[in-house]
Amino acid sequence: MEFSGHNVLVTGANRGIGRAIALLLGGYRNRDSQPLKVWINYRADHKGADTLKGEIENLGGRAALVKFDVTCEEEFIEGVKTIVDSDGGLSYLVNNAGIVLDKLAVRMKTEEFVRVLETNLKSVFVGCREALKVMSKQRFGSVVNLSSVIAEKGNLGQTNYAASKGGVISMTKSFAYEGALRHVRFNCVTPGFIATDMSAGLDDALKADYLKNIPLARLGEAKEVAGAVAFLLSDLASYITGETLKVNGGLYM
Ligand code: NDP
Repeated sequence: MEFSGHNVLVTGANRGIGRAIALLLGGYRNRDSQPLKVWINYRADHKGADTLKGEIENLGGRAALVKFDVTCEEEFIEGVKTIVDSDGGLSYLVNNAGIVLDKLAVRMKTEEFVRVLETNLKSVFVGCREALKVMSKQRFGSVVNLSSVIAEKGNLGQTNYAASKGGVISMTKSFAYEGALRHVRFNCVTPGFIATDMSAGLDDALKADYLKNIPLARLGEAKEVAGAVAFLLSDLASYITGETLKVNGGLYM
């Protein structure tokens, strides 16, 4: 895969899918034969983030840590500024950080609805907006936002999560319009059920039930989502913007 850019910010990269994305991207070199520099965002888990940094460096890559809570707009803006001041720009952004707070709608407090939107949607808006400012000036950039199969099909107990991830898809298309003339692309991936801490919380009966509906008959792996993200960021996807790429084993076609 070819990359014209030189650096990438991955939010929530200390574990799960974000970690797999950072690790995969850390192994690529750009057109100048330089490793892509991976900025690992984390909010508290310094050890996890630092271990990942070491792993990327051991593979011959370049990595740096940038600590902020994505729900804090000021911190997110400061994080992007740190990167731009250090590297002279930002080539790629992956808005990966996300949470679930599942509950049947009749029991869900409005605060629980809003909290999920703050993390999964508002932060993605802030990240896309700040990236677009920098990338517009560069006349180059690519952003991938993590949505979910739940945005496409809905789910019991996930009204807040579905709303947040559905918003990510439509917002990404709108950003794609705004970025297009400045050569900045915005795309989404919609993972299905991926084996991470997030899905580990599902009870076994529910998991068995989900598996019956997945044609590939297994949960996905974080690295399988990472491959789709890397493709959409890369030059190989240079004519793709506003798109949503499903990575769900056939769960929703
Ligand atoms: P995990 O729960 O395993 O990891 C979530 C990551 O997001 C962690 O690194 C977490 O940090 C970080 N994070 C959460 N809130 C914040 C915050 N406020 N600021 C900074 N970082 C934060 O989730 P996954 O890896 O499974 O999911 C990654 C993305 O993929 C999410 O957007 C999720 O919605 C989406 N997705 C996942 C699916 C799955 O089946 N796993 C399916 C579809 C979509 P910390 O360690 O500090 O909590």
